[in-house]
Amino acid sequence: SDQRLLEVRLMSYGDRQLLLIARDITRINQLEGMRKEFVANVSHELKTPLTVLQGYLEIMQSMEEPDSINHKPLNLMQQQTRRMQSMVEQLLALSRIEDGADIDLEQTINMTAMLDILKDEASALALDQYELTFFAEDNLDCHGNEVQLRSACTNLISNAIRYTEPGGKISVRWELVPTGARFSVTDTGLGIAPQHINRLTERFYRVDNARSSKTGGSGLGLAIVKHALNHHYSELTITSEPDKGSCFSFIIPIHLVVK
Ligand code: ADP
Repeated sequence: SDQRLLEVRLMSYGDRQLLLIARDITRINQLEGMRKEFVANVSHELKTPLTVLQGYLEIMQSMEEPDSINHKPLNLMQQQTRRMQSMVEQLLALSRIEDGADIDLEQTINMTAMLDILKDEASALALDQYELTFFAEDNLDCHGNEVQLRSACTNLISNAIRYTEPGGKISVRWELVPTGARFSVTDTGLGIAPQHINRLTERFYRVDNARSSKTGGSGLGLAIVKHALNHHYSELTITSEPDKGSCFSFIIPIHLVVK
C-alpha cells in the first residue's frame, strides 16, 4: 500500500542537454480511479428507476385517448426518459471501455465481415433517406477487440447520419494504407468549425447544444471512440468544413494488420 506511482519524462534540448522530470502521480491516479468508479456506480444505479418510469409511462400512454390533453406531456416525458436511458447506457459503455483492464486484443477481425454488420445497422438508422456507400478491402484482417472496434465504427457512422440532412451522402471504407488499415466515414453534412475540432472527444462536449439536442445524442460518443482506439494504438483524425461535410478516420497500425 506504500507503493508510489511515478511519471517520468526525459526531454532533450538541442543535442547536449537532457532534462529528467519525475512526478508523483499516486494521488491523481487514486482520484481518477474514484471518479471512474463513482460514474460507473451512479450510472448503474440509475438504470432500474428509469426502467420503472419508462414502463409506467408506457402503460399510462396506452390508456390515454390520442386527443386527450395528457397525450402530449406523456409523449414528452417518454422521449426524455428514453434520452436519459440512452445516456446512462453510454456512460456505462464509456466506463467499460475506459477500464480496458481485461480486454482481449488478440482477436482476429475480418473487415469485410465487420462492414456487413455495420451496413445493416446503418441501413436501419438511415431509413433510405441517405445515399450510403460501403467498401472493404478484400481479405483484410486485423488483431484487436471486435466489440470495441465495432462500437467505434458504429458511433462514427451514427454521427454521420445524425449530423447530415436527409438526402446527403455518407461513405464508409476499410482500406489498406502504407501505415496500416484505415477506417473512414465521410459525410456531406453540417460540418464543424475548426475551433471545436480538438475538443470533440471530450466527455459531454457538443458543438451546438440547440442543434445537438434535436439529434438526441449525449456528447459521449466520440469519448467512447477515443478510448476504444487508444486500446488499439490508434487515434481519431477529423477533417471538416462547415456546411460542406466531415471525415472521421483512424488507422489501425500495421503491426496489428494480418495480411
Ligand atoms: P453526440 O452524442 O452529441 O453526438 P459525440 O461525442 O458523438 O456526441 O459528438 C460530439 C459532437 O461532435 C456532436 O455533438 C456534434 O456537434 C459533433 N459531431 C460529431 N460527429 C459529427 C459529424 N459527422 N458532423 C458534424 N458534427 C459532428
